[in-house]
Amino acid sequence: MGVEDRADALAADARDPLAAFRGRFAIPDDGPLYVDGNSLGRPPRQVREVAGALLDTWERELVGGWEEWIGLPLTVGDHLGASLLGARPGETVVCDSVSVNLFKLARAALTTRSGAILVDATEFPTDRWVLDGLDREVRPCSPEPAAVAAAAGAGPIALAVFSLVHYRSGARADLRAVTEAVHAAGGLVLWDLSHAVGSIAIDLAAAGADLAVGCTYKYLGGGPGAPGFLWVRGDLLDGLRSPIQGWFGAAEPFAMGPAYAPAAGVARFLAGTPPVVALALVRPGVDLLAEAGMAAVAAKGAALTQRAIDLHDAWLAPLGFTLATPRQPERRGAHVALAHPDAWRICRALIERRRVIPDFRRPDVVRFGFPALTTSHAEVHDAMAHLRDLVTTGEHHAVAATARRVT
Ligand SMILES: *Cc1c(COP(=O)(O)O)cnc(C)c1O
Repeated sequence: MGVEDRADALAADARDPLAAFRGRFAIPDDGPLYVDGNSLGRPPRQVREVAGALLDTWERELVGGWEEWIGLPLTVGDHLGASLLGARPGETVVCDSVSVNLFKLARAALTTRSGAILVDATEFPTDRWVLDGLDREVRPCSPEPAAVAAAAGAGPIALAVFSLVHYRSGARADLRAVTEAVHAAGGLVLWDLSHAVGSIAIDLAAAGADLAVGCTYKYLGGGPGAPGFLWVRGDLLDGLRSPIQGWFGAAEPFAMGPAYAPAAGVARFLAGTPPVVALALVRPGVDLLAEAGMAAVAAKGAALTQRAIDLHDAWLAPLGFTLATPRQPERRGAHVALAHPDAWRICRALIERRRVIPDFRRPDVVRFGFPALTTSHAEVHDAMAHLRDLVTTGEHHAVAATARRVT
């Protein structure tokens, strides 16, 4: 039995130690074949219960509910940090969006150092644009030690901002080696973990990293618009100040005093009132990943992406696809990018005619995300089989090439 047989996928599912976790997510029986959980993760079942309890507190206790709510950015942050990031207590906080957190940490880091910012020219746009707005030289650099050393040769470095897993290709950087290269060049490193957290095992402390930001609505299943997180290595905290001197980041928010003094610890990177409803819903997804353990989650992600790559080689390469994701498992995350000149129409045809939901990334990539707790081997098989059949029959030529606001 080879990988092209559906029975091979079913056998892998029967052996999967994480298979039971799927039942702990709300997955409608008649729903689509969903392979876009790296863009918006599926909701854990427990979310309804947590949301209901929160409404009860709001209805009954009104403003008194704040006694319980006010600590959430730090308690959810510590839980997320310990379970998924290799963080120590007091280093992680859940707040704001990735864009805002990136701004706060990058601005704080830049006040401690002169020199340029390094960023990948193919980095997610919000990261590049936030950095472009900081009035510093921005120097393009890929997240590789040799590239960092070469970029540093052109003048001093203050800060390097890199994605651990690239949003489009799924390529994974070497966390420790790149961190060491940035340090050797005299800079601080800020990792964007948006596509890495919940998909691969991360140990920020062991890598000696400085700063990080990331998303909770992708692999963590926090829900649409769920707040991001930020992480600061403990020994750096005293020396960094948030550029947004908001009351929630102050030492005593309710003292209502004349002047701002930053809170001790990572709380100083809070700005305004936390989005309590959205924040409370982040915990169930973190709980499930913590229970499964990131070593097992990462191993399954590697196996699912390997199946997609093997099926690409067998079925899709002959149809004009090229694999845009690295082949070595330790060099990728849990999504796979397939490039094709007709990617946009192929992606729309999969959605409209086959009820298979990946996403499209300009200019020519169809992206398939396989969160380990909600994706089966059979789903990977079926998604690739639909893709093969659709392109073989030319079905995608029947789809209008009109653009949409969200791709
Ligand atoms: C998803 C993602 C973001 C999202 O930023 P928000 O401000 O939370 O919308 C940022 N950077 C990267 C690399 C991402 O993948």
